[in-house]
Amino acid sequence: ESVPIAELLTALHDRFLPYAQQNNMQIHLDLVPNLPTITTDGSRLEQVLVNLITNALRYTPPGGTVTIKATTGHREVCLMVVDTGKGIPADALSHIWERFYRVREGNQPREKIKGSVGVGLGLAVCRNIVTLLDGRIDVTSTVGEGTTFIIHLSTTTHAG
Ligand code: ATP
Ligand code: MG
Repeated sequence: ESVPIAELLTALHDRFLPYAQQNNMQIHLDLVPNLPTITTDGSRLEQVLVNLITNALRYTPPGGTVTIKATTGHREVCLMVVDTGKGIPADALSHIWERFYRVREGNQPREKIKGSVGVGLGLAVCRNIVTLLDGRIDVTSTVGEGTTFIIHLSTTTHAG
C-alpha cells in the first residue's frame, strides 16, 4: 500500500485540532517539503501515530504544545511527535514499552481523551507495530520539559 506521509500527518493534525483547542493546547504540524510516499500499512501506521498523539495530549498540561513533525534522511523518513509536557523520568524510560507499565509518581493523566484511564498498552502496541513495519521507534525525554517519540521508517523496504 502506498502511503503519502504528508497527507497522513496533515489529516491527523486536523483530526486532533478541535480536541487540543478545547483543552487550551496547541497542536502544530512541521513537515519538510516533498515528503515521500512509502510502501507500508497505512492503517497500522496511523494507529501508532494516534497512540503517540493521544499520549502527548494526555500527558501535557494545558497551555502546552504538541508538534507532529516529519523529516527525511538517508533512505528513511522520520516521523516525530514532540510535546512540552511533564516528561518521563530517566529510570522509567526503559520500561514504557512494557505492557501495562505506567509511570506512577506524580503522573496524573488528564482523562478527557478516550474517556477512561489508560491501561499501559499503547506504547507496547506501538513498538510491536513499528517492528512489523520494519521500522524503529525511540524516545527522548526530559522531566519538566517534554518528550519526543521518533519513528524511523525505510523508504525502500516493502512492509504491508
Ligand atoms: P493506554 O495507552 O493503554 O491507554 P497509557 O497511555 O498509560 O495507556 P502507554 O501509552 O503505553 O500507556 O504509555 C505508558 C506510560 O508512559 C504512560 O502511562 C505514561 O506514564 C508514560 N507516557 C507515555 N507517553 C508520554 C508522554 N508523551 N509524556 C509523558 N509520559 C508519557
Ligand atoms: Mg497511551
